[in-house]
Amino acid sequence: MNQNQPPRRDFLRYVGSLAALSAPALAAANDKDQVSFPPIYAKTEKPEKGEPAADPMNERVGVAIVGLGRIAVEEFLPAFGSSKHAKPVALVTGDRAKGLKIAHQYNIPESAVLDYKDYEKLGSMPEVQAVYIALPNSMHAEYTVRAAKVGKHVLCEKPMANSVAECQQMIDACKKAGKKLMIAYRSQYEPFDRALVKMIRDKRLGDLKEFISVNSQNMGDPKHWRLKRSLAGGGALPDVGLYCLNAARFLSGEEPTEVIGNTWSTPGDARFREVEESCQFILRFPSGFMASCSTSYAAHKSQMFRLNGSSAWAEMNPAYAYHGLKLKVGRVEEGKEHVSDIALEEKDQFAAELDHFAQCIQQNKDVHTPGEEGLQDQRIVEAIYESARTKKPVKLAAPGKTRGPEPQEE
Ligand code: NAD
Repeated sequence: MNQNQPPRRDFLRYVGSLAALSAPALAAANDKDQVSFPPIYAKTEKPEKGEPAADPMNERVGVAIVGLGRIAVEEFLPAFGSSKHAKPVALVTGDRAKGLKIAHQYNIPESAVLDYKDYEKLGSMPEVQAVYIALPNSMHAEYTVRAAKVGKHVLCEKPMANSVAECQQMIDACKKAGKKLMIAYRSQYEPFDRALVKMIRDKRLGDLKEFISVNSQNMGDPKHWRLKRSLAGGGALPDVGLYCLNAARFLSGEEPTEVIGNTWSTPGDARFREVEESCQFILRFPSGFMASCSTSYAAHKSQMFRLNGSSAWAEMNPAYAYHGLKLKVGRVEEGKEHVSDIALEEKDQFAAELDHFAQCIQQNKDVHTPGEEGLQDQRIVEAIYESARTKKPVKLAAPGKTRGPEPQEE
């Protein structure tokens, strides 16, 4: 029997062990506060696993939310409800009425609702240890650098910035200030992707050969900042195509050595006067692993990937959604194709990402997705655009280390 293809019983046992993975975080800092109970169920039942203890409010990392748009208000702020190590303590917004409404919901004092022009006041607010930047892409660099200068750690939304030069400025500013910089790659912290990374590293798919992925959505408002080059930096590629690109990298653990890109905008479509409607790209990796990705701002929402290894495949569909992720694995055993649904408990991806960031601050550890990870994606984005423009493949030099230690399971 192929050593990459254990008998089905073993595979099921292995899949069962993946269910023990929960939202990643560093080892609980507060074991002493953990309340535990003796087992109640028979040994044949799934082991009980209570939630780890949460930090008391006065020990949590205080975060200022910068920009109160969709991702901040609809996903990130609600995630503090599941967070164990962070709390929202300030808001930065150009719309004070909106800021006050949200401040009341989260018990943030009115005095901690700041306008963008008062951003530097964060420096004299010791309750704010870190900022979360959820502004249009072109503003990420400026607000990261300004936060570092007033002594705050930074969690910055993807894409990191609009150019390699801006990414480097952000890294340099945080390094100079001795502050952490993490890019909000939520997929790298959620349980299904974590389980798949483990399966890949354990060679359960054999050798990785192909990655095929789509991340598309149909944009409506032609005036939205995402369709303005100066604010967005590009179209579908840096916004949603980035998920495919980043997944190909973090799942394989390899870095591409060559890219081929193509972009397209439907002539006369008012939405795509400044940025591309769609982008198709191929990434070639050193082992021979290949990623073929497509992203569009004019196709019905579709968020999937298929990873073909030499002895099994894995598929996530949806792969990049906020909720309802589904992971299937297909393999042949005793001459028959078996497809397993990997049933894991859903965890709030934003809370998992936030708690990793908060615990790295509390324990002074390196983050898993630092600025170097965002910089490498930006280098590849720029190479894809160059290839699309020149209609030639573009070679990429190997980067230095882009990721910190794997997040531990809590
Ligand atoms: P959004 O348009 O809903 O919010 C942007 C916020 O920035 C608004 O509050 C707006 O008022 C403010 N703003 C300040 N100056 C502005 C200006 N000059 N022009 C436009 N808006 C300005 O956008 P969003 O969807 O919340 O995206 C914000 C960031 O988060 C982007 O970088 C985006 O790529 C990222 N994002 C990440 C995820 C994820 O899953 N990690 C999902 C969505 C968005």
